[in-house]
Amino acid sequence: CGIVGYIGLPEKTAEHNALDVLLEGLRRLEYRGYDSAGVATVSGGVVESRKKAGKLANLVAEIETSPVAPATVGIGHTRWATHGGPTDQNAHPHLGDGGRLAVIHNGIIENFAELKERLLAEGCVFESQTDTEVAAQLIGRHFADDAAGDLTEAMRLACQELEGAFTLLAVHVDQPDRVVAARRNSPLVVGLGEGENFLGSDVSGFIDFTREAVELEQDQIVTITHDDVAIIGFDGTPAEGKRFTVDWDAAA
Ligand code: GLU
Repeated sequence: CGIVGYIGLPEKTAEHNALDVLLEGLRRLEYRGYDSAGVATVSGGVVESRKKAGKLANLVAEIETSPVAPATVGIGHTRWATHGGPTDQNAHPHLGDGGRLAVIHNGIIENFAELKERLLAEGCVFESQTDTEVAAQLIGRHFADDAAGDLTEAMRLACQELEGAFTLLAVHVDQPDRVVAARRNSPLVVGLGEGENFLGSDVSGFIDFTREAVELEQDQIVTITHDDVAIIGFDGTPAEGKRFTVDWDAAA
């Protein structure tokens, strides 16, 4: 329902810790309505994931009980449940590749049942009832297999199999310098910072940090690092995004 992503620099972590940036973005996206919230950061070679049913305050309380190490990269989500009830377990992020990959998702994966059947037969173990976890496990399989450790390629291969409407964001411990996102019939905007970049389901996800933004087209994948934004189509063809400056009054 609401999506944010962030990648910065270690030198900037004191000023912009990924967790704070993500929570600020989720607060801004609260107006969209949601039933659960969650975040995942990558630091020290592990995914740190915290998620809770209910208001953002529940997630913040969970993080106070179980703190997250400072990080330069992360993703955050507010959920409006469509597949699986609004429980802690069904809240996003969902993990893949043995807990080394975290994924958040807006929308619906229409062919999730047949994909889940296949993944179960291949030995995947599921922890939720969501359609999203199927996408997470699928990206994880590709990462470990035919994408050969390239998160952008793993996302691209997964997207070729997914049907429905979705915005997906992924981070992986093996590539902690990037966030990869995909979009099909669902919103996604990039926010451009200096030595840091952002993703949002709309500009309010990063409006406190930058007004410079890039719009994607449908069926595209974007890979952001702290100083680069690279866009390709689901077919792999490189693409240019459309740059624009957010009008504060329109966004407020
Ligand atoms: N279909 C997903 C779920 O039920 C995502 C819902 C959303 O867009 O928040 O978890």
